[in-house]
Amino acid sequence: MITRKHAIERAWGPAACLLAPAWLLALALAPGRAGAACLANPDPQIRELQARASQDPTRVLGQVHPLIAALEAQHVRAGAPEAPRLASLYAVEAQADGLLELDAAARTAARKGLQLATDVHDPVHLDLLDTYAHNVYDGAALARALAQVDAARLDQAEGSPADTCLLIARGVIQHRQDRADLAIVSLTRAYRATAAVPGSEPHAIAAGYLSVVMRSVGYYAQALALNQESIDWAQANGATLELSVARFQRGRIHQRMGNYPAAIQEFGEARDLSVSLDDRQGIAYADLRICEAHLEIGHLDQAVRECTQARRLFAAAHATDGDKEAQTLLARIELAQGRPARALAALNAVLDRRGADLQPRLVAQVYEWRARANAGVGNFAAAYEDQREFQRRETAGTDIERTRQESAMRARFDTDREIERNAGLQRELTASQERARRQAQQLRWNTVVAGAGVVVIALLIYFLAANLRFRKQLLQLASQDVLTGLPNRRRIAELATAAMTAARAAKTPLTLALLDLDHFKMVNDRCGHAAGDYVLQEFARIGRASLGAADVLGRWGGEEFLLVMPGAELSLALANLERLRTQVLGIRLPPTAAGLRVTLSAGVAVHGEQIGSLDEFIARADAALYTAKNEGRDLVRVADERTQFTITGVRRAMRR
Ligand code: GH3
Ligand code: MG
Ligand code: MG
Repeated sequence: MITRKHAIERAWGPAACLLAPAWLLALALAPGRAGAACLANPDPQIRELQARASQDPTRVLGQVHPLIAALEAQHVRAGAPEAPRLASLYAVEAQADGLLELDAAARTAARKGLQLATDVHDPVHLDLLDTYAHNVYDGAALARALAQVDAARLDQAEGSPADTCLLIARGVIQHRQDRADLAIVSLTRAYRATAAVPGSEPHAIAAGYLSVVMRSVGYYAQALALNQESIDWAQANGATLELSVARFQRGRIHQRMGNYPAAIQEFGEARDLSVSLDDRQGIAYADLRICEAHLEIGHLDQAVRECTQARRLFAAAHATDGDKEAQTLLARIELAQGRPARALAALNAVLDRRGADLQPRLVAQVYEWRARANAGVGNFAAAYEDQREFQRRETAGTDIERTRQESAMRARFDTDREIERNAGLQRELTASQERARRQAQQLRWNTVVAGAGVVVIALLIYFLAANLRFRKQLLQLASQDVLTGLPNRRRIAELATAAMTAARAAKTPLTLALLDLDHFKMVNDRCGHAAGDYVLQEFARIGRASLGAADVLGRWGGEEFLLVMPGAELSLALANLERLRTQVLGIRLPPTAAGLRVTLSAGVAVHGEQIGSLDEFIARADAALYTAKNEGRDLVRVADERTQFTITGVRRAMRR
């Protein structure tokens, strides 16, 4: 069984005469790959067969032969309903034959198919044409194939996928015609036509072919750059087979550049990939090239091991030319190890058909090696003969090649520009992706920052609100009596002072009263402190409820309260206090109080010119309170305006 690697090896080898890399076309035609872009067969079943044919052509041939025979028995002609299907089956057969190096059979199948699928727009027709073109080798047939491909191209829209496929086929034929210069032009056009989508498969295919041609004419930098595109594509698309082929090709470039360790590395990677695919041909060719590279750097033991392995695989596949190349390398190793007789025997076997079954370039070299082997065993006449044969074949090739090299050089500049342009596109793409990535990241950060900002602001607002609330609470705590909720002493003093100032300014009346619960100590003593607290709270509630809007009641201390009545004349104040006094009588005490009642004594003072300060004002009220207490409690008394008061707390303290 001969598969991809065989075709590649020959197509991508140093040979002047190149075989069709039919495997690549087969890949291009495989469903789900470039299928849609490049001459895909419209019938999914056929596409499936083609895909399998590129993996296992022998098996697929066994499947399509009976199908073809059945249709042939019906004498299907062009235009018949079964014609497209039969043509497609021929296309599969031709493809499989081509992969198996059954060139004549491939050509016959393709020709039969072309008689049934005659429309140049029909993908089946184009597919057959491709396969046919890739299976012709002699000069006249190549020229005919090229003419057919060019004729078909006339009917395709410039730059269309079909046109690109045909351009690639054209480049392959031209390369096979040993016209690297023309092949470079054709393939560069295909490469350019597909450049709009740098990561597309047709572009990778064009790059792959162009790389092969560039290497064959010694433009290694270009070959490496183009090969990298194939590798990138294969890696990005998880295309193991293509990756293996591209790595192999890279190894070939390194090898031609004399960089053998790098070549061995690449061949090794290609081999690993082939192993994962169970692609024996791939493994065999990798072994062969690894052997060759080891031989070049004098690692003879490794070389023998690799070549022996390759021979075993080629022999099992009946791949004669691969086997013979491995044999040639083993003979060279024998020579290097000083065993010319054994080398000679091997090389005689290789040249048993005078190189008709070998690549032309290889043939020349085999003669040279045999010349050395003959000289080694002292057979100088034969050595001389072989040397002449080598010279004859080599110089013929070299002369032609020199001419070709010059025109290829011109064609190359075009490709250089394209590669540069592509690299530019790729750089732009990468740069814009990077920009987009940065912008997305920036956006993410902005969102995070904005989010954090919102959170911070929310927290600040929360803290601020909490702070205000806290401040308010603090202020309230600082100015409010906890037990009764009334303004505390400090606060009621402030309010009283403010009321005095206002009354003085507005010349409005202001009355002030000092209230004291009678025998409160007894309440505590008999009913408990909690009951005392309750009485204080009840008093505060009643006081707040019974007072006018402008009046303020505050806790002066203990069971003493200060009542400020702005705008109230004495008569009104007394009426208020009387009402309050009677309401207080309603405060209920627990049974333990046993006859004890809550009563209130009050001392009232009226604001006047003789009063300079709050202390004076309060002292007057206090004096009146004192009177109320003395006169039996549960009474409201008014301060005597004529009395002079000592305005300190001393008198109050004495009273207690
Ligand atoms: P008087 O009629 O002469 O005013 O006699 P009194 O017992 O009311 O006066 P005194 O000044 O002898 O006692 C006041 C009592 O008030 C003493 C104290 O235990 C009580 N007292 C002060 N503040 C509170 C309080 O917040 N709760 C309670 N339950 N009792 C308090
Ligand atoms: Mg008291
Ligand atoms: Mg009291």
